[in-house]
This record gives sequence, structure tokens and C-alpha cells, in this order.
Amino acid sequence: MPSDYQSNIDLAENVSLDPLAVGRSRCMANIAFSAGSIILSNSSFIDILLPSEKGHRCDHCHNLSGIGSLKRCTGCASFYYCDHTCQSKHWKSGHRKICKLYNTYISAASFQALEEHKKMDALLLSSLIAHLSSVDAKERDENTAFLTFQSLLPGPMTTSAPPICPKHSFTAGVIDGFYSRFENNNFSIHSHFNTYAHGIFPIASRLFNHSCMPNAAVKFIIQVHKPVKLEIVALRAISKGDEICIPYIDPALLQTRTTIFDLTYGFTCSCPSCNVIRKVGFIPEPPKEPVRFQAVCERLREFVGVMGLSPFLTGDDSLFPTELTCVLHESFISTLSEQFSAASHDGRYDVALESSSSLFALYQLIYPLNYPQIGKCLHLLEKAKTCWNHIVRSTSTMEVAAELKNSVVAAKQILTVIGHEGDHDDGPLAEIETLLLEVETYD
Ligand SMILES: [Zn+2]
Ligand SMILES: [Zn+2]
Ligand SMILES: [Zn+2]
Repeated sequence: MPSDYQSNIDLAENVSLDPLAVGRSRCMANIAFSAGSIILSNSSFIDILLPSEKGHRCDHCHNLSGIGSLKRCTGCASFYYCDHTCQSKHWKSGHRKICKLYNTYISAASFQALEEHKKMDALLLSSLIAHLSSVDAKERDENTAFLTFQSLLPGPMTTSAPPICPKHSFTAGVIDGFYSRFENNNFSIHSHFNTYAHGIFPIASRLFNHSCMPNAAVKFIIQVHKPVKLEIVALRAISKGDEICIPYIDPALLQTRTTIFDLTYGFTCSCPSCNVIRKVGFIPEPPKEPVRFQAVCERLREFVGVMGLSPFLTGDDSLFPTELTCVLHESFISTLSEQFSAASHDGRYDVALESSSSLFALYQLIYPLNYPQIGKCLHLLEKAKTCWNHIVRSTSTMEVAAELKNSVVAAKQILTVIGHEGDHDDGPLAEIETLLLEVETYD
């Protein structure tokens, strides 16, 4: 999260920080960016894998390998590497301060008593301290990533740091200071839109404010032998002088977002989407009765079909029909997703297609253009797969074939904006290519 701290650190070429008289500084575009341009590219400062990924990915470069094909650290038997190159880099950058103590540390009662996300924080903090204790003090104090990390805004909650693994020479106050930057600044690292690690990327944290209708998004690039790279991608055309924002949380958290901003980040979001939600006020539960629920879905699809720019992007609540307020209830998405999964599973493709069309309509309403991670395109892809199952089970109709083609083409368009990300194989873009080949046989 940007602070109003002033520094002469040159953070990125094509953007600059514009300090406001009151509040947080803003990241402004120094040049125009077209949709899909990379605004910032930055290697990880510190990162750790989720426990479920241990042994599947290299602890240094995150490269995904088959179980058993990675080399295990013989010291702790708990860290895995592609080869000697990755192991040696990881050892020098901090593992040597952790290796011998690691197993005792994670089996200690004080670590085991932590909640899951606190365990991740404790491991990340341990890696940070191990890293800082491994490098030469002068080199450390001149390191841009470290200087920038120290300049980040602390979170609104003051909690003391969890127990950490390595021996070190920092005071408890300094460690608490580092930890206070964690919750509102660190990133979830994802591949094909699934989180697999947590990381500290101080420059990206320093630069970008949040918006629930952001014009940019975060993706990660995995390369063998190198630390994972974060890239900020323009989701739509950005003009010179525009503020560039990224989403800190899923914009679909329509009801809980205010509380999250308040407790975790310590700010009030004033994006157009939040303004509409504030003006809408009370959000009722969607009707439970199936016929009335379907009527709401139908009205939603009809409204989105003719809406032009989403009121959640323009901030104009007068254009949002009052009878659709219940679609903003967070249970609406979960009900539709469950309906879709159950219907696809049971082979009721007409029902599956209808619920996916309603979900798609909701995504178009609440997500910004080309927003990839959470919904639209992956969802379109799901829809395409459903259509495909429908066809291969020989209940094919021309409309289903046409709908499949439309979905695949639309998904490809959206995913092309975010471009290659995460693991090298089996991504949604690869799945789309396969589907496109199959679609062509029906043309
Ligand atoms: Zn590796
Ligand atoms: Zn080890
Ligand atoms: Zn907002």
C-alpha cells in the first residue's frame, strides 16, 4: 500500500508517484498503455510456497515438477529444488540460516498453535529475517527492495510478530515493524488463477492503490532457476496521466469488502463500484423459491444485455434497477455456481447453460473489462466445456455449437489481454487452443 513517505528511489520507468496533500500517494501513468501492456515487472524479494505445494514445486524458482523429480535438501529434508543451481541460490539467499532449525521450529507448540494464515506469515517473516541476516549489512541497507519495504504503510492492526525460525540480531521492535507491513501489502502468488505461494514485492506494494474496478491486474511469471516475477498488466487502454490501480481483493466480495478494507487495510474505498453499493444501501437475500429466483436471473441477463457501460464502472446508481439489488448479495454467486456444477454433473445441460449465462451477466456487471483471474473468462471456458459435453453426447444442436464457438472466442480475447502467466503447461489459454481446434470441426 502506498504511503506518503517521500523517496528518491526510482521505482519504475513509465509511472510516477503523485503525492496527495492528504492521504496516500497515487501511481500515475507517464505514458499511454494499451490493453495487455506490461506496466511493471519485478522479481520476488521474499516468497514461500503453500504447504500443499511442498515437494511439487522448486522452493527457489517455483517450477512445477512431478513428485520425486525434485532434489531434496539433505540438511532439513523439507525444501526441494530443480537442481544444484536452484539449491545453491536459495541456500545463499537465506536457507542456510533456516535449514538446521526448520523442523524443530515448525513442530514447536508455539508455531502449531497459529492459525493457518498466521503460519504462512510466520514462515514468510522467517524467510525475510533469514535473508536479511545472510547478506552483507551494507548491501542490505542499500537494497531498493528492502528500502522500499521499510517505506510501506503499516497495517491498521497492531499485533506482535509470531515466533520466527532463524537466529538474528534484530530487536523485537524492528521485527514487529516488519510484520506490521505484511497483512496489507503482501501478495498471493498464483498460477492459472490459483494461489500457490505468498510473497513480498515491495515496489509493486509501494506503487499501486486498490480499486474494485481496476484498470490493471497482477500476474506471475515462473522461470527455471530465477525467482518468480510479478507483472502488472493493463486490462484496458490507460491514458497518460491516469491513476493505475490493481485489485487487493476479489471485487465480487460486494458485501464484505468494506469490512476487509477497514480491518485489514485501514482505508475506505471510493471507487465507482463502492459508491454504487453505498447508495444502494440494504441488500436483501435473493428469493429462495426457484421460479422467483429464475425470474431475477432473467431480469439480470436482460438488463446486462442492454446496459452499455456497467453502472459499477460509471458510478451512476440511478441506472441500476432496484429489483436487482438482491444479485449483489454474496449468496447469489454461490447459489448460481452450485446450480451450475450440480447441473453439469447430472448432465442437465440446459440448466447448466442457463446458470452460466446468469453468472456471466453478473460478472459483466461487477468486474472491470477483461478481468481475468476470478471469473469471466474461466467461467466462459466452463460454459464452453459444458456445451462441448452436450455435443459429444450426441444431443448436438446448431445453437449449442454456435454458443460454444462464441464462448471460446470471447474467453480467448479476454485471456489474451493478461497473456501467458504461471506454469508453462495446461493453462486456460492452452485449453482454449484445444477447444478452438475442436470447434473448427463443427464449422
Ligand atoms: Zn528451481
Ligand atoms: Zn534445508
Ligand atoms: Zn471499491
